Amino acid sequence: MARVFVITGPSGVGKGTLIRNLLSRVPTLELSVSATTRKPRGDEQDGVHYHFLTDEEFASKVAEGAFVEHADYSGRRYGTLRSELERRTADGAPVVLEIEVQGARQVRETLPDAVQVFIVPPSAEALRERLVGRGTDSPEDVERRLLVAEEELTARDEFQYQVVNDRLEDAVAELEQIVSRELPQR
Ligand code: 5GP
Repeated sequence: MARVFVITGPSGVGKGTLIRNLLSRVPTLELSVSATTRKPRGDEQDGVHYHFLTDEEFASKVAEGAFVEHADYSGRRYGTLRSELERRTADGAPVVLEIEVQGARQVRETLPDAVQVFIVPPSAEALRERLVGRGTDSPEDVERRLLVAEEELTARDEFQYQVVNDRLEDAVAELEQIVSRELPQR
C-alpha cells in the first residue's frame, strides 16, 4: 500500500488551504476526493471537490463496504471511498486524506501505517473568525461546527504529529518537513 497521510483537525482550522499549499510544493502527492451528502457550496464541482451523493447513494455504499472510513459531521455524511484511494495510489503515489476526527480514528485502525497529522488552531477565537470569515456556512452551521470543534480539539494528543496553523507559511513548511521525513526517497 502506498503511503497515506491523514490531515485532520476541526472545521475552519485551514486544512484545505494548508493542503493546497502542500500539494503545490510536493507535486507527487495525490489528494483523495471524499464523498459527502452535503450540497455543493459556491463553485464546488462534483468529482473535483467532493463526490456529491444523495443520502440513499451514500447509505448503499456503506452497506456495500465501499468506504475506508465514514462519519457523520454537522448533520451530513462524509467518507473516503476505497475505490478512490485505490485509483489515486495505483501507481504508488502517496495520497492525502483531508478528514474530520472520527474518520481519522477509523483510519488509525484500518490503515495503521498511515501518517496522522492534527492541525491545531492558534486559538478558539481564530477558529470562529475563520469560519465566519469564509462566509460559506450559515450562522447556525458556524455555531454547530464550533461546538464540534471544541470536542475535536480534545483529541489532538491522540495524533502522531500536531501542527499549529498560526502563520500559513510556517505551518506549510512544517507539513512539508513531516512529508520529507516520512517519504525519505522523495
Ligand atoms: P466541509 O463541509 O467543510 O467540506 O467538511 C466538513 C468536515 O468534514 C471537515 O472537517 C472535513 O475535513 C471533513 N471531511 C471531508 N471529507 C471527509 C471524509 O471523507 N471523511 C471524513 N471522516 N471527514 C471528511
